[in-house]
Amino acid sequence: MKTVVYPGSFDPVTKGHIDVIERALKIIDEIVIAVGDNPEKKPLFSTEERIDMIKESTKHLENIEVEKLSGLLLDYVKEKNCKIILRGLRAISDFEFEFQRALLNREIEKDIETIFIMTKESYVYLNSSVVKEIAMFKGNVKPFVPEIVEKKLREKFS
Ligand code: ADP
Repeated sequence: MKTVVYPGSFDPVTKGHIDVIERALKIIDEIVIAVGDNPEKKPLFSTEERIDMIKESTKHLENIEVEKLSGLLLDYVKEKNCKIILRGLRAISDFEFEFQRALLNREIEKDIETIFIMTKESYVYLNSSVVKEIAMFKGNVKPFVPEIVEKKLREKFS
């Protein structure tokens, strides 16, 4: 049974994240989506709201768990008896940060590997901050986020 931990802020989850999850499920048995609980990041949505939106947006998929991640990612991954971290890659701009993180994590915990999945071309420019900006100015976020997220964003900025 191959399980991966997919960590992130998911503030909020976008179609880019869902695309990575769906692709990963083709080669992986189970995904634990670990939602970062770092108040210093000043998220728009609470951890609970972010978890609920991911659950709703992935209910068409099997073998998904969504949990809060507080503390160190490597400790959490070990706790889950898991050996793989999943991250998404968009443009080259993601690469340096992800490369540094992955190597650092491997240095600390040599048995844990990070794997990357490239997103669909049309989501390459997409991130949660852009979505929040569009929503704040009452723009149309429908092409970029699951339905539940669109609804929640509308409520947040109404
Ligand atoms: P973090 O703050 O940890 O980067 P994010 O929620 O922004 O959290 O992203 C979580 C993961 O999903 C990261 O690996 C990020 O590269 C990836 N990701 C974010 N948006 C997309 C997207 N549009 N396509 C593919 N991967 C994405």
